Amino acid sequence: KRENTINFSPGPAALPDEVVREARENVMNYKGLGLGVMELSHRSPEYTALNLQTQDLLRSLLHIPSNYQVLFQQGGGTAQFAAIPLNLTPSEDTTADYFITGMWSQKAAKEGEKFVKVNHVLSKADGGYMTIPEQSQWNLTPGAGFVYYCANETVHGVEFPEPPDVGSVPLVCDASSNFLTRPIDIAKHAVVYAGAQKNVGCAGVTVVIVREDLLGKCRPYTPVVLDYAVTAKAKSVYNTPPVWSVYILNLVLKWIQKHGGVEAMERNRVAKFQSLISVIDQSGGFYRIPVERRFCSHVNIPFRITVAGEANSDLEAKFLSDAAALGLVQLKGHRSVGGIRVCLYNAISCEDVQKLASFMSHFMLQNR
Ligand code: PMP
Repeated sequence: KRENTINFSPGPAALPDEVVREARENVMNYKGLGLGVMELSHRSPEYTALNLQTQDLLRSLLHIPSNYQVLFQQGGGTAQFAAIPLNLTPSEDTTADYFITGMWSQKAAKEGEKFVKVNHVLSKADGGYMTIPEQSQWNLTPGAGFVYYCANETVHGVEFPEPPDVGSVPLVCDASSNFLTRPIDIAKHAVVYAGAQKNVGCAGVTVVIVREDLLGKCRPYTPVVLDYAVTAKAKSVYNTPPVWSVYILNLVLKWIQKHGGVEAMERNRVAKFQSLISVIDQSGGFYRIPVERRFCSHVNIPFRITVAGEANSDLEAKFLSDAAALGLVQLKGHRSVGGIRVCLYNAISCEDVQKLASFMSHFMLQNR
């Protein structure tokens, strides 16, 4: 049952109950129109209002400066891996700098190689992604087309404490997994994008925040649905938008606003991380986070359960099944790293994390 389950999934992820309840009503009958949201024309006055209101909500929640456009595109974060180089650089001869701090930036760079010369800012991470090297070790290209980074690596749990300082080169941020869990200084960026299905809604819509002077420079063969200038001009209704996904995004943004905005999400983020991390820190190494603390994500926290200093997958399997018996679900680490991963997106409350933390304390006492 929903009320007995806490969903720590990495995404698609838990939505606030209030949002799901309201959406349920509107599946059948949107605002008393006699038809449901999924049946609403994207050219209707109702969708036009919903679309614009959603963009305005993002503007106000993130304090987006007026020289930025807020766009909705489809194809997830993965489509942006191509959209970024296609919109920001003139040709395949352009060099673009990528910070590879985990699986998602690695995937972005791999896709980027189709469109630009990819330069790796950091030397290869031997033995996994556990830190972000000091600025003095960065290999930045003067005059690069852009610098790309992933603010929070969903799989490896590496989070930038602040945007990297790359001078005047356009800075691109994949904020998919920590979007609206903390304030972000948009003005430091050329583009900030995020898929909605973790912190702000369901799959199907990607928010792209782009500085206006970068519009209209895409390569001539850019697919029209990825062309930022076309999307901006059409106010994100160039072709049929994902009406349902934008609707859910709208409800989640209103929920965030009602609960104190990004500033309140930030306070919760810190409190939730503290309750989890204190159990881990007091476990004497039973629970072990591989990532260096300063770069340890507050949103996606992967850890191992160890016996005599070694990760123990049998005990991890027991952890997952004992947790599931209590309704604490979707805690399995990504298949590429194993172990456990806790995802503390906005819809996870402080009480939810306290329940997990107390389960973890008991599990440790019983099993070490
Ligand atoms: N970037 C990050 C940080 C992600 O976590 C994900 C998906 N988990 C993606 C990009 C790719 O998003 P999508 O699956 O929507 O294409």
